[in-house]
Amino acid sequence: MLNLVLFGPPGAGKGTQSEKLIEKYQLVHLSTGDILRSEISNGTALGLEAKKLMDQGVLVPDEVVIGMISNKLDANKDARGFIFDGFPRTVAQAEALDSLLTSKSSAISGMIALVVEPVELEKRLLLRGKDSGRPDDANPEIIRKRISEYNSKTAPVANYYKDQNKLTSINGIGSIDEIFSSICAVMDTY
Ligand code: ADP
Repeated sequence: MLNLVLFGPPGAGKGTQSEKLIEKYQLVHLSTGDILRSEISNGTALGLEAKKLMDQGVLVPDEVVIGMISNKLDANKDARGFIFDGFPRTVAQAEALDSLLTSKSSAISGMIALVVEPVELEKRLLLRGKDSGRPDDANPEIIRKRISEYNSKTAPVANYYKDQNKLTSINGIGSIDEIFSSICAVMDTY
C-alpha cells in the first residue's frame, strides 16, 4: 500500500494537490476537514459539536477524528492506499494512525510537507472565503487562530515523521502543476 500524509498549514494547497494525486495514483482521499463538513451538512450530533469548534478555528478532539479515520479505513479495505489530508494534526493523532495501520499490516510511506509563508496563507484563505462558503475562511481573526493552532499543535507532527526519516518538504509556492510534479517526484520514490 502507498499511504501518504500530505501536510502543511491551512491554505497550503493540500486539497488541490490531493485531487490530482488520487487520480494519478488511484488512492483514497481522506480529508478530516471534508468528513467533518459532511457531518455538519448531514446535521449529525457529531457535526453539531464539531461545527462550534471549527467556526472558532480550533481543533476538534483527537478521539473524534481518530474514530472517523478508523471507520474510513475499515470501509475501504480494498484501497491501494490513502492520502491523509488534514490528518494527523496532533502527535496523538499520528501515534493513533500508526497503530491503526500496524493493525492492518500497513504503514505510512511518507509525509510530504507543503511550505508556504504565513502572509501568503492569509491571502489565499481570504480569497477562498469569498466563494467557498466556509465561515472559517471569511474572518481574518479566525484564520489567524487556525494558523496559531497549526503552529502550536500541528507543526510538531512534522518532527514525528522526520524522526522516522519519512519527511520531505516541498516549496508550496508556484503553479499548481509545478507543485504537483515536485510531489510526484517524491511519490515515485515510495
Ligand atoms: P484547513 O486545513 O484549510 O484549515 P480543514 O478543512 O482541514 O481546513 O479543517 C477545518 C477545521 O476542521 C479545522 O480548523 C479543525 O477545526 C477541524 N479539523 C479538521 N481536521 C482535523 C483534525 N485532524 N483534528 C482536529 N480538528 C480537525
